Amino acid sequence: MSGQEISYFQFPGELLMRMLKMLILPLVVSSLMSGLASLDAKTSSRLGILTVAYYLWTTFVAVIVGIIMVSIIHPGGAAQKETMEQSGKAIMSSADALLDLIRNMFPANLVEATFKQYRTKTTPIIKSPKMASEEAAPRQILIYGVQEENGSRVQNFALDLTPPPEIVYKSEPDTIDGMNVLGIVIFSATMGIMLGRMGDSGTPLVSFCQCLNESVMKIVAVAVWYFPFGIVFLIAGKILEMDDPTAVRKKLGFYAVTVVCGLVVHGLFILPLLYFFITKKNPIVFIRGVLQALLIALATSSSSATLPITFKCLLENNHIDRRIARFVLPVGATINMDGTALYEAVAAIFIAQVNNYELDFGQIITISITATAASIGAAGIPQAGLVTMVIVLTSVGLPTDDITLIIAVDWALDRFRTMINVLGDALAAGIMAHICRKDFAQDTGTEKLPPCET
Ligand code: ASP
Repeated sequence: MSGQEISYFQFPGELLMRMLKMLILPLVVSSLMSGLASLDAKTSSRLGILTVAYYLWTTFVAVIVGIIMVSIIHPGGAAQKETMEQSGKAIMSSADALLDLIRNMFPANLVEATFKQYRTKTTPIIKSPKMASEEAAPRQILIYGVQEENGSRVQNFALDLTPPPEIVYKSEPDTIDGMNVLGIVIFSATMGIMLGRMGDSGTPLVSFCQCLNESVMKIVAVAVWYFPFGIVFLIAGKILEMDDPTAVRKKLGFYAVTVVCGLVVHGLFILPLLYFFITKKNPIVFIRGVLQALLIALATSSSSATLPITFKCLLENNHIDRRIARFVLPVGATINMDGTALYEAVAAIFIAQVNNYELDFGQIITISITATAASIGAAGIPQAGLVTMVIVLTSVGLPTDDITLIIAVDWALDRFRTMINVLGDALAAGIMAHICRKDFAQDTGTEKLPPCET
């Protein structure tokens, strides 16, 4: 199929992505502002602390699962690496990645944050090297010789003595296309808390956000009809785009198996067991309720784009209190990425194994902490984890350009880790709804305004 035919084939899938992305902004802003404004200060701070603590803890557990898997399967033996030059990509430093995370938390322009996020631009600069004594040094010498070939003739050979140019990388703050969800979440959450403290004078804006939230959820319900059709074209189009799926499978098969095994252990055993022990409810029933959201995560590789569907599933199928879902889900889609954290730890140790680096205990601990931090910094968009992985690699002195090793299989692994990211957020909402049930039962009056549903 030609590139143009593939793009026509992908069009129904592109429409699905467009519909989902269109809903992210109104959903995040309206749900966080109305959700937090409707809680009293005590409830919101308890829910906030519990949610963030739970998120950090489960992410750390995911990293440990990844480290155990990669140490047992040891996939790093057979891979071949591409150099940075072959991949044609310049990779930013760990410090720049951290600064970008902080910049994104505080966008300078809220309108711009709806379509751009900060990302340091790293450009290679080719420096011509200085020779020991620049003037005197010859750049070229000529060798005169005779070469005999079908009779005799004289030929000159030139030998270039110029040392190879040195490549240095220059970093400068820049922006890339894509919504800055982190900045919007922080702004909306702060606004929501402030509106809640303003009392009656904040009511018109809270009421507006509640109506916006209700209407967005109605649009989601309509769009859901299109999703199965869009999903098929989205995945088929991606497979058609690949050059040689068989070669990719052979090259990085073990690494991919390791990541998937880790995700299965975390997503199908650890998280559901945690849910069962805390709530004493059947996790299978809960997971069945969010199946549609998991499929959308698989198809889109984006937990932010899946957010509207996760909301719908939790409210309609699992009957989670909407005030809890409004807080737990947008925050989770931004900071809680168990799948991403697990994959970052596996990938970093895989790269060490490929390079024959022996990691000591201290370095393993460093990887587990930085993989947790890097997953918090990753946006809920396709392959965001690949970018924040520099933080993990540089923290233990692994070559960042080896990220190119795993790019070939990342499009597929991204889908599975996004599913686990979404599942982690959904189960967290179920657990928080159980833990905070008394606060919310006593606090039925805290949703100050009636929902605007008719
Ligand atoms: N695609 C993932 C998500 O949206 C992030 C990542 O790991 O790249 O949750």
